[in-house]
Amino acid sequence: MTQQPITELRLCKNPDCQREYQAEIINCMGVQIIRGDGYCQECAKKIYEADVAREETARLAKIASKRREWREVKSGIPSKFMLAEFGSFDEKRNGCTGLVNAKKRCLEFAEKWPFPDKDGKPWRYEKGYPSLLLYSESSWGIGKTHLACAIAHKVLNRWDGQPMACPVKFISEYELFSRIQASYNYNLEEQKYLPGEADIIREMVSAWLLIIDDVGKRRVQDPRFVQRIYFSIIDGRYKAERPIVITANLNPDKLKTYFGGGIGEEATFDRLFEMVRGCVIHIEGESYRRRLPK
Ligand SMILES: [Zn+2]
Repeated sequence: MTQQPITELRLCKNPDCQREYQAEIINCMGVQIIRGDGYCQECAKKIYEADVAREETARLAKIASKRREWREVKSGIPSKFMLAEFGSFDEKRNGCTGLVNAKKRCLEFAEKWPFPDKDGKPWRYEKGYPSLLLYSESSWGIGKTHLACAIAHKVLNRWDGQPMACPVKFISEYELFSRIQASYNYNLEEQKYLPGEADIIREMVSAWLLIIDDVGKRRVQDPRFVQRIYFSIIDGRYKAERPIVITANLNPDKLKTYFGGGIGEEATFDRLFEMVRGCVIHIEGESYRRRLPK
């Protein structure tokens, strides 16, 4: 039985304090419990606050180390772009139109990115979060990859503990196709342990945010292969209402042909266009990679 607490004048346990205070003592089934564990109210409050701060520091340290692990291993951001964040993107570069707007819209995209809730359920965004298409036709090396990586970095920087899975997957088209094509040559043992085409597609569909960089940059031998892969990924994400960021070296018309084939076979692009809902960013200008140093 718990009785009413009694108060008693005591000395604070803290050797630096030792002031007299009215201690509340509770008798619980014959055991005396002193509220505040023998510390005066002020010291008890300080100890509690220090505990809370320590726990918060430990939580933030855990988050920081998880972010680092994902940034370097899971997210797929290339090592060359480990520092390619929005802050290091020079949108005022000579000869490039549209970079200021492109940066602004990509930053907005990453800043508003809705994280799934605590149970790992997708956000309930009306009709899903919009996808993003960033393209420039005439020049390569204009900064699309930097912007795409900056989106990935920003989303990782905003991750605060939920969901317990890397929230973003970055992959170049070249790497995506190479990984799938390599799987066709696996021997029997490798087939058992290494991801095949279906596993890779599943990984691309299930990523919270998928970024495919440099779409249409290289000539691909077999257009049916390209179309099959993109249909599986985009259709899968469309149904799961998960957005995709695509950077392309093709304008939307050429992208449609690249994804689609003939009349009536343009489902992939139609789905993508519906997902994008107007988030199409066009950059033109001189490639800074090819510019001679001054
Ligand atoms: Zn004290």
